[in-house]
Amino acid sequence: MKKKLLVTDLPSSQYEGKRVFVRVDFNVPVKGGKITEDYRIRRTIPTIDYLTKCGAKVILASHMGRPKGRKIKDLSMAPVAARLNEVLGTQIHFPDAVVGDRVESASKKLENGEVMLLENLRYYNEETENDSDFSKKLALLADIYVNEAFGTSHRAHASTYGMTAYFDKKYAGFMVGNEMKFLNRLIKSPKNPYVVIVGGMKIKDKIGALKKIIEKADRVLVGGGVAYTFLEACGVSVGKCSVEKDMLPWARKALEDYRGKILLPVDHVMAEPAGGKKTLTVTGAEIYEDMTAYDIGPKTVEKFTSYIKGEGTVFWNGPMGFFEVDNFSNGTSAIARSFALAKWRGATTVLGGGDSVAALKKSGVDFSEVTHVSTGGGACFEFLGGSDLPGISILSDS
Ligand code: ADP
Ligand code: MG
Repeated sequence: MKKKLLVTDLPSSQYEGKRVFVRVDFNVPVKGGKITEDYRIRRTIPTIDYLTKCGAKVILASHMGRPKGRKIKDLSMAPVAARLNEVLGTQIHFPDAVVGDRVESASKKLENGEVMLLENLRYYNEETENDSDFSKKLALLADIYVNEAFGTSHRAHASTYGMTAYFDKKYAGFMVGNEMKFLNRLIKSPKNPYVVIVGGMKIKDKIGALKKIIEKADRVLVGGGVAYTFLEACGVSVGKCSVEKDMLPWARKALEDYRGKILLPVDHVMAEPAGGKKTLTVTGAEIYEDMTAYDIGPKTVEKFTSYIKGEGTVFWNGPMGFFEVDNFSNGTSAIARSFALAKWRGATTVLGGGDSVAALKKSGVDFSEVTHVSTGGGACFEFLGGSDLPGISILSDS
């Protein structure tokens, strides 16, 4: 991956009076109209402050949740606007829309150093469809483009990709710059052994990256929902666990091609489907016919942790089970603790993924116990696999 320009690579005087579109990740949890956690807002402050101090007119844009083109009130950016007012200590502009004449003229009326936040980008299907008209309309709002949303950089959407064609100047924000710096170093010279822990729910979301990363890794420990497709591919009965049928041929082949490299759960914590009250720990890999597995069992934890040592590189994406429910969080917690210990003992550790970060927190492991907590899951996975991310590739080369 070529080196990309950072926001600081443009002389600060050239920001003055310019409208700067900053794609951020304000996909924060909201309950009853209130933000329950605003880490994703706080961490963008260095970039916002830098630009406003340079006299730029800052236009922030993000998606929230999956409204799928509908204007769902619960997924409005209004609570984010309110929180930004507090965090920035100034009144920001919130035009309550994404594109159009009104937003465009509002962007032009901004004073130097003022901030505007757009509504949820995904109120329009055109965003995820990377629609060219929509991209053009977004581009009308600004003169300079900044990507500060690493987590959506693996998607070629209008705000991460399409609109950027209309800008000469496209920069990485501080966070994106940081991710590139760290992850590029890791790609160039990963310390071995290289252990990859993968969990979570959807292979399909991760398969492109998984394919590439399997080649680079010395071991791939597969847990969580992803594991059941692999187990089924081995002919192990998986009960009522959901299996990605269309991924079975690939999983079968991967297990054959990388025999011994891919390790699967050997026991499980099961319950009746839909998280029924009765839970059972089974000591074998087979899952009972009318049950679902929600966590890896103790033998699997022992087996996996024997590979998570204080040397080389450990990359983790995806919880080992339905960790949000206490009964099913032990496997993930145990892996989180051994992940932390690996760092203390000298390994380079990288964690990526929104749910993985939440799982780490729930396990009582501190961010400082991980070498690099990535702001992206899928994006980090793909980057480490060696793929060019659309939202990064479009940034100006340095
Ligand atoms: P990340 O956001 O870190 O990339 P994913 O989105 O891929 O992770 O997956 C996280 C989700 O997968 C969590 O909500 C977790 O509860 C769920 N999950 C993992 N394993 C299981 C399982 N065995 N059964 C049900 N849900 C699971
Ligand atoms: Mg997730």
